[in-house]
Amino acid sequence: MQMPEPDRGVIGRKREIIADLQEILPQESVIYDEDELRAYENDGLTAYRQIPLIVVLPETTDQVSQVLQYCHENSIKVVPRGAGTSLSGGALPLEDGIVLGLGKFNQILETDFENRCVVAQPGVTNLGITNAVEHAGFYYAPDPSSQIACSIGGNVAENSGGVHCLKYGLTTNNLLGLKVVLIDGSILEIGGKHLDSEGYDLLGLMTGSEGLLGVVTEVTVRILQKPASARAVLLGFETSEAAGDCVASVIAEGIIPGGMEMMDRPAIHAAEDFVKAGYPLDVDALLIVELDGPPVEVDHLLERVSEIAKTHGAVYNRISESDEERARFWAGRKAAFPAVGRLSPDYYCMDGTIPRNKLPHVLTRMREMSEHYGLGVVNVFHAGDGNLHPLIMYDANKPGDLEKAEEFGGDILTLCVEVGGVLTGEHGVGVEKRDLMGSMFSEIDLNQQQRVKCAFDPDSLLNPGKVFPQLHRCAELGRMHIHRGQLPFPDIPRF
Ligand SMILES: Cc1cc2nc3c(=O)[nH]c(=O)nc-3n(C[C@H](O)[C@H](O)[C@H](O)COP(=O)(O)OP(=O)(O)OC[C@H]3O[C@@H](n4cnc5c(N)ncnc54)[C@H](O)[C@@H]3O)c2cc1C
Repeated sequence: MQMPEPDRGVIGRKREIIADLQEILPQESVIYDEDELRAYENDGLTAYRQIPLIVVLPETTDQVSQVLQYCHENSIKVVPRGAGTSLSGGALPLEDGIVLGLGKFNQILETDFENRCVVAQPGVTNLGITNAVEHAGFYYAPDPSSQIACSIGGNVAENSGGVHCLKYGLTTNNLLGLKVVLIDGSILEIGGKHLDSEGYDLLGLMTGSEGLLGVVTEVTVRILQKPASARAVLLGFETSEAAGDCVASVIAEGIIPGGMEMMDRPAIHAAEDFVKAGYPLDVDALLIVELDGPPVEVDHLLERVSEIAKTHGAVYNRISESDEERARFWAGRKAAFPAVGRLSPDYYCMDGTIPRNKLPHVLTRMREMSEHYGLGVVNVFHAGDGNLHPLIMYDANKPGDLEKAEEFGGDILTLCVEVGGVLTGEHGVGVEKRDLMGSMFSEIDLNQQQRVKCAFDPDSLLNPGKVFPQLHRCAELGRMHIHRGQLPFPDIPRF
């Protein structure tokens, strides 16, 4: 993994930078001891590690502003970090960069039931928002499987999703306002408790910007009233292809479930061994479909979904009879990643999105690739959104295994783009998919995206080395050729 060349001058000034930062922040909020820095050396993409130069833990927007202004004036790179659960390496530190951790921003500032919103600091966990409002019958809909740990600031930066996003939208659809500190220390207020504002959609631009445009220090999100009832059905199929066809048919019939998830045989077995969710073990694919709303509507829709599943050859159908049973159905799905962690020393979690009707084709191709690379793959995905999460199993201690897993993952994502999908559904680009950006975007697209980055951060100090591709991989993807000595992608910094 090639990262920008570290600035030796900045590394040489480490003592001076620590002293300067201690003028801005309390002593204990500036971490520079190597053992303590090690806690920040990676995020959820554990294949890559780098001990940062320094970690700072501010606790007010004003402190963030002063730190960023100092870094701007002294050409020091900054990597924002929430809870560090990113699966694409978005919070991977830099040798010559400061990690700016938002862990101390952990307060809910306001719960406003009248306006149906919550104002929170960015370090509050995703689940923390629901916990703060559920006593009044409300919840925050986007529910990444990492919701007990990941921060709402990280959710904004990655535009995170989850099981319920099929019906209720991703982070971007549930976000109302942000406070953002720009690299020069200025503070930008975007949106608020009201609906859309006039002008450019800066809220949309910041969502999914992966820490490259500014540091979020306050978030206003929409909360929803809990549905009157919810029931889930487990549907088992003899092939993943049949389950994939069933997903496409349910949506084509105009039914939008609260959640529609799919697991293949290895995932079913891993999850069942781990949490005893009550899954059938003799099927090749399992759908968990949840319907929510008034009880009469839920019962009617469950019947229709069951009928559709039957026409696709479902061999197993079990409807939850209580909230406890429904929660147990989901517990298996939510624990699927750690469950797979028990099957293989390491796994690489991919995240691509495809048009729903391409699911059977993509699953077949993935099986062929698995044989080709000699690495197992387990499939767990947000089937309703066409968002795949293949988990490629490998052993980091086996020479060459990681490289094979990376190549396999790259092939899967390229296939997603080929069939009309996109490189990421919800985990972001980070460093993981950075070098594949050329397979999806043209030179014109990438140049324009880079110009947006330049408008916010002209010196590329915020999270450099993430999202925008390295040129040698663009060349491999056949997207770069030098014509009459003219350099393509002239705006992209070379490193
Ligand atoms: C077991 C597991 C399951 C997961 N399941 C899901 C899932 O179902 N759906 C899903 O979408 N994701 C999932 N993820 C991925 C991850 O949890 C999300 O991407 C999450 O939003 C990251 O939040 P974080 O606080 O950990 O951010 P971090 O990992 O700390 O950072 C992620 C990115 O956001 C930037 N960032 C963080 N905070 C800020 C801020 N305040 N201002 C500006 N930039 C910031 C960082 O620079 C980085 O680029 C999963 C991860 C794990 C480990």
